[in-house]
Amino acid sequence: EFVPASRVTRINTSPSVAAAARVRELKAEGWRILDLTVGEPDFDTPQHIKDAAVAAIGRGETKYTSVTGTPELQQAILQTLERKTGQQYTPGEITIGGGGKQVIFTAFMATLDAGDEVVIPAPYWVSYPDMVLANEGTPVIVPCSEDTGFKLTPEVLAAALTDRTKWVILNTPSNPTGAVYSRSELAGLAAVLKEHPAVHVLTDEIYDEIHFGAEPITSLVAVAPELKDRVLVTNGVSKAYAMTGWRLGYAGGPAPLVAAINKLQSQMSSCPSSVSQAAAAAALTGDQSFVRESVAVYRERRDAAVAGLNAIEGLKCATPEGAFYAYVNCGGVIGKTTPDGKLIANDEDFTLYLLDAASVAVIQGSAYGVGPYFRISYATGLPVIEESIAAIEKAVLALS
Ligand code: PLP
Repeated sequence: EFVPASRVTRINTSPSVAAAARVRELKAEGWRILDLTVGEPDFDTPQHIKDAAVAAIGRGETKYTSVTGTPELQQAILQTLERKTGQQYTPGEITIGGGGKQVIFTAFMATLDAGDEVVIPAPYWVSYPDMVLANEGTPVIVPCSEDTGFKLTPEVLAAALTDRTKWVILNTPSNPTGAVYSRSELAGLAAVLKEHPAVHVLTDEIYDEIHFGAEPITSLVAVAPELKDRVLVTNGVSKAYAMTGWRLGYAGGPAPLVAAINKLQSQMSSCPSSVSQAAAAAALTGDQSFVRESVAVYRERRDAAVAGLNAIEGLKCATPEGAFYAYVNCGGVIGKTTPDGKLIANDEDFTLYLLDAASVAVIQGSAYGVGPYFRISYATGLPVIEESIAAIEKAVLALS
């Protein structure tokens, strides 16, 4: 009998991947599902980026590259990091991988020993705790309530730190809440971090181009450059440029940490796809109008989704400032009963009910560490969002 390694039995399959699989299954059975689980832009990759990839193939750029990528991609990443953080990075301070996901995983693999703690503010991206567990670390889940915008406060951060803390994770804008840390909120966290020189910070800024405020997203490094030698800024081209399938992520951080990550990368993958590297370089340095145009579309959908959900008695939805998700409070329907007599005891019961009764697929808040909520994605067309809201409303009205 096959027995997987303990690092596999310790972790879960990503709930969002599982939800997507369930939606595909139901569709294959002939059901029409209104799918609000999608974690990727519904736009196609812009043409100039595809063209750059085709041109790279034409030039024969189809071989291994250096572990840290082609000179063009390296330059593109260095420029991008400088634009986002206001700080200069050198080639020895960047790493690339098959998506931001793989970069983060490798960062944990390169730094965690058994028992090392990683502070994960909840609601969190579902992968963080399992990535920590797979690499023998101990996730320290720190609940952040809706009252603080689902964000970590200096007091809560200070209370979570111990002498075993290796990392603190920040994710701005956040998946699943769309919350964004302001400059002053980051300054407050930085003040605490300055008192704890052994703690590293992983700031996952993969959604930073998708924001609805007037100002660009602020990076922790921009607010507290003195922390730069212990902050790993992770990002990638998946979300901003609708390039999830190209699998290209990157990070900037202190040279010794980055060297450790790159040493592992050299044994794990050698390098990400050379063709995707050419595409990513074009994405980062080329025309940015796609980003502006897609954000305008996300904004319109966000406004429709938030207004529609808040109009439903029993649901409450804060306005997300970035990414393409909303985190909806469903506390008002917990304890009610479905038309066929089932009790809605928690958010998972409610999401199953929505799938059954309304054919709307969403993901339960318990998957992200804070209930009773559910996450919707608005990386889907306005008609689907409007139809979903009407179907959710009807299903909620049928509860007693
Ligand atoms: N970080 C967050 C918060 C995400 O939601 C995702 C994707 O869903 C990623 C990182 C990784 O994206 P990718 O591996 O496509 O770069």
